[in-house]
Amino acid sequence: MAIYVVLMGGPGAGKGTQAKKLQKQMGLPQISTGDLFRENFKNETKLGRQARPYVDSGELVPDEITLGMVGERLKRPDTEGGAIFDGFPRTIAQADALEALLAENGERVNVVPYIHVDKDLLLKRLAGRWTCPVCGRVYHDLFNPPQKPGVCDVDGAKLYQREDDTMDTQRRRIEVYFEQTAPLLDYYRGKGLLIQIDGEQSIEQVFEDLRKAIEEAR
Ligand SMILES: [Zn+2]
Repeated sequence: MAIYVVLMGGPGAGKGTQAKKLQKQMGLPQISTGDLFRENFKNETKLGRQARPYVDSGELVPDEITLGMVGERLKRPDTEGGAIFDGFPRTIAQADALEALLAENGERVNVVPYIHVDKDLLLKRLAGRWTCPVCGRVYHDLFNPPQKPGVCDVDGAKLYQREDDTMDTQRRRIEVYFEQTAPLLDYYRGKGLLIQIDGEQSIEQVFEDLRKAIEEAR
């Protein structure tokens, strides 16, 4: 039986890494809207051409275009056993549309693992990056700290934070994620599909919990 997984988790929760591992080890293709847009642009499909002006002007692409791309993607034979949706759906309207799309083939979303990481830890993971202005090496407060705080190991230059890596930018990004996805979490929780995974464990343990959650939903 096919299995359709909606993988959820905030920025810095390790969702992309886990989706790739799941794809590799369980043979479930990862479907992300980012990839779909890139592919449709590259191949200059009709949907790609329709989406282009919205993307170019920084506007939200209408759901019917995005859903159209997902629908086309689901017609490819590699999704016969199911798929992992990564970064999609983002809203309840999209979640309803995805249900309708899958129902056309007698399928449905089977399980929604939510990789939960505390906001403060997400912030530490995302905002801890420091860059060397001389050699370009990137350090991280938690994962790859320089030997002497604030100074490059190689050339002794003073490290700086890129705008994207500062606390304020990342805190905002995390807040936006939680604001936007809280209703979606409730939606899937209400359907009994949400399974919270402790995302503060090792990558291997998170993967093991995910694999188990998916196997049990089969
Ligand atoms: Zn350096």
